Amino acid sequence: MDNNDKILTDIWDLLNLTSDYLATGYLKDHSGLKISTDSLEKIAEEISVCTKCKLCESRTKVVPGTGAIKPSLMIIGEAPGADEDRTGLPFVGRAGQYMDKWMDAIGLERDKHIFLANIIKCRPPENRDPGSDEIAACLPYLERQINIIKPDIILSVGKIASQVLTGRNEGIGRLRGQVYKYEGTSLIPTYHPSGVLRNPEEYRKPVWEDLKQVKVYLDNKNSQ
Ligand code: SF4
Repeated sequence: MDNNDKILTDIWDLLNLTSDYLATGYLKDHSGLKISTDSLEKIAEEISVCTKCKLCESRTKVVPGTGAIKPSLMIIGEAPGADEDRTGLPFVGRAGQYMDKWMDAIGLERDKHIFLANIIKCRPPENRDPGSDEIAACLPYLERQINIIKPDIILSVGKIASQVLTGRNEGIGRLRGQVYKYEGTSLIPTYHPSGVLRNPEEYRKPVWEDLKQVKVYLDNKNSQ
């Protein structure tokens, strides 16, 4: 192959790569392996200007999610509340601080071992439940985040997040106590910390059971 042929072949390869990327969002390396070009920063940028549902009209700040780059645990809640909407950070209110204590009890730290996110990235007014259209519009962001982060295990907190991720309609009291799979990742549902703060007598014990299950799972994984 002379020099001109080589240049033409390289241009042809480049055009194919570009076409693959535009069609799939992935690049393929020379061995044909898929290389994701998606990133948490790119997703956060898209969310920051997102107008895919009407929650964009009432939000103060978007709350894409934050935490460790390669976390053991990903915690997924329903949607930002007032404190999160004001700061742009997930789980920073009283419930979030309470959840830090849960994590402390199983030896995990927020920025070291955990990535925190919500199903919905903008606050629903008056903390109402998100509509199914809003969930459908926003869920692809979370799916992309999970695909990049690849946590060892997911803890869904509260009814809505747990229903969306398990694909089931039962209340959280019936959903919890089992391990599910979400996109190939193990998932444990539990109560939302704000619910536990409202009714500690009823919910503290089952939450502790769920957290112990998370710990056993991670301990087993680490010892493999
Ligand atoms: S809630 Fe999600 S889909 Fe709706 S505007 Fe915010 S980022 Fe976009």
